[in-house]
Amino acid sequence: MTDSLYTEEHQIFRDAFRKFVAKEITPNVEQWEADRAVPRDLWLKMGEQGYLCPWLPEEYGGLGLGFEYSVIINEELIRGDGFGVGVPLHSDVATPYVHSYATPEMKERWLPGCATGEVITSIGLTEPNAGSDLAAIRTTARRDGDSYVLNGQKTFITNGFFADLVVVAAKTDPKAGHRGVSLILVDKDAPGFHRGRRLEKMGYHMQDTAELFFEDCRVPASHLLGVEGAGFKYMMEKLQRERLEVCIKCQVNAEEALKEALSYAKVREAFGRPIGNFQYTAFRLAEMATDVELGRVFLDHLIRQHIEGNDITQQVSMAKYWLGEMVNRVAYQSLQIHGGYGYMEEYRICRISRDVRSLSIFAGTSEIMKLIVSRNLGLTPQ
Ligand SMILES: Cc1cc2nc3c(=O)[nH]c(=O)nc-3n(C[C@H](O)[C@H](O)[C@H](O)COP(=O)(O)OP(=O)(O)OC[C@H]3O[C@@H](n4cnc5c(N)ncnc54)[C@H](O)[C@@H]3O)c2cc1C
Repeated sequence: MTDSLYTEEHQIFRDAFRKFVAKEITPNVEQWEADRAVPRDLWLKMGEQGYLCPWLPEEYGGLGLGFEYSVIINEELIRGDGFGVGVPLHSDVATPYVHSYATPEMKERWLPGCATGEVITSIGLTEPNAGSDLAAIRTTARRDGDSYVLNGQKTFITNGFFADLVVVAAKTDPKAGHRGVSLILVDKDAPGFHRGRRLEKMGYHMQDTAELFFEDCRVPASHLLGVEGAGFKYMMEKLQRERLEVCIKCQVNAEEALKEALSYAKVREAFGRPIGNFQYTAFRLAEMATDVELGRVFLDHLIRQHIEGNDITQQVSMAKYWLGEMVNRVAYQSLQIHGGYGYMEEYRICRISRDVRSLSIFAGTSEIMKLIVSRNLGLTPQ
């Protein structure tokens, strides 16, 4: 972000959070990766310090801060190797649905816990047969008196295993296509709600990613977010922020991968000289640095636009695909520059390379982003 967007207060917040990450997160990464989980204790500590949902108004236990603070938290988590901590998904993707669309009673019930860490949230859109094509979801929510009864299943759900509250997309009118999709809150104790496996993934190991099942799962009708049938519209409204959040992950991981490659290339010697002095390696690093620089300028521009309240659907779709692929290019080249050491767990680039592979897939694949961009260009690709 350019300097003018950061005040001294932002910098103080960043410094404090960086220290928190260095003390509470970085030393535990190896253990949490092995556990495939981040302990609840971390969430509570983050809540205590105001690092969860800092944008939430004070009446719900937040600090009422701007999006810049969410950016700082997301950036510093990645710099301190906490990429797999599911806090940005909780703070900036799932909880905003509750804040924007839940009834006043539901907000009072759930939001204070979202700020303290007693309530972890997740969002369940994807199903085994419907990922990119969300209108094809099969989970249904049938109104029955004062309740909704949900049947169906979700997969690949971030924070899914430990979530206390899930924003679930379900068809309240299965014949109405995307106009029949509604969003409904399901809490962990709802009868008929079960979690399946914690999924074994290629990377992103400390993140709990799970399957969710709804078998005649009954929740009060007041758990409906907004109005019936408007779920798709709400998702479109929130996707800009979600994709921007993923763009930050892409950019900071690319910066970290470049940093690793540069420092390694300066000290590793072959044929009597540092490998960074071979023109091939130096030029490759120059290309990577250019990619990273371009990404930073684009991302900061979009963050600023988002903070100013502008519609950046088209640009954020461009950024999600470009940055998602750029970070993979940079991580691949960085690992290559590390030679065999890059393939070893003790080198940071090994984990970064594994983790970033997910970034061109979740929150909308690169192909779906290009579909959105081309439609906005007046084209109708199939
Ligand atoms: C680590 C991880 C965490 C996730 N977290 C969540 C979460 O918290 N909540 C949630 O709901 N989901 C989550 N997801 C799911 C994610 O959003 C989906 O995987 C993604 O949207 C793609 O859906 P899919 O896997 O079903 O692939 P598909 O939709 O089956 O796509 C398969 C391939 O076909 C391509 N494709 C599909 N349609 C088109 C088209 N029209 N034109 C060109 N190409 C096309 C896709 O780009 C992709 O390459 C997560 C996924 C991962 C890997």
